[in-house]
Amino acid sequence: MNIAFIGLGNMGAPMARCLIAAGHNVTGFDPVATPDGINCAPVAAGAVQGADVVITMLPNGHILSVVCDEIHGSMTAGAVHLDCSTVDVQSAKNAAQAADAKGLMAVDAPVSGGIGGATNGTLTFMAGGTSEAFARVAPLFDIMGQKAVHCGASGAGQAAKICNNMILGATMIATCEAFALADKLGLDRQSMFDVVSTSSGQSWSMNTYCPAPGVGPQSPSDNSYIPGFSAELMLKDLRLSQQAAEATGASTPMGARATQVYADFVELHGMGGMDFSAMLPHLAGDFND
Ligand code: NAD
Repeated sequence: MNIAFIGLGNMGAPMARCLIAAGHNVTGFDPVATPDGINCAPVAAGAVQGADVVITMLPNGHILSVVCDEIHGSMTAGAVHLDCSTVDVQSAKNAAQAADAKGLMAVDAPVSGGIGGATNGTLTFMAGGTSEAFARVAPLFDIMGQKAVHCGASGAGQAAKICNNMILGATMIATCEAFALADKLGLDRQSMFDVVSTSSGQSWSMNTYCPAPGVGPQSPSDNSYIPGFSAELMLKDLRLSQQAAEATGASTPMGARATQVYADFVELHGMGGMDFSAMLPHLAGDFND
């Protein structure tokens, strides 16, 4: 396929490299990044000309809408705009409408799996759009990822992503505060892990991504909390969940509290660049030592 890839940052560049390695013809564009091994066009509109699929991997919904304005008019009729950025649900729906107005197809497919998943081609995609559009880009999901779920119409991929990450943020905080309480109660962390990871308190945060160093499988806690998944990106996703909750009138008291706890962690304590599991040393008071 001829593929254009717009937004070659931490995630986009390795995703584009996976497609190149699989034999696709990829033309990139990024106003700042100049990643090795990716042939780039000087402007976004130039990169998308003649492409069967245009992939965007951008920071937020506002930039997505600016890029839609730049590229849709230059895309070939019937081509697919596949947006893999994490943005608000309304921006995803707007992008799909804008594509449709130009005779294009659109899929919103945010990812889970982080930079490691992007590099190794093991991302999970949660996709929204028509079945026809999903089928057209499914072979690309197989290259960049290990699983793709078609969640429904446009915006459904973003909806699934923010619901998942709202659970993740709240669960990570609950796991970290339980460890901090266990410390005070004199329980050692290995015993906490051995009990909780096989009991009803288990979760991905405990079992797979344990926030306590030296306990459980290898995770960012074993690497000085270098991300992994940064606290700043967790806060972004939690805020998107609260924006969606407000827009729909959903009651999300835990999501609201988790958003506040990560906002304090990132904005008051300046911890945005650390992995989101560094909530444990924060709550345990280790950063005050
Ligand atoms: P990043 O900031 O490293 O990359 C974004 C890129 O977009 C940058 O290179 C930037 O120059 C480019 N860009 C900005 N404005 C542009 C424009 N007008 N036209 C073209 N390119 C433009 O961010 P990232 O970590 O690669 O994340 C990208 C998206 O993936 C975000 O929505 C993020 O929430 C999501 N995400 C990231 C991770 C992660 O672990 N990094 C995990 C899951 C999802």
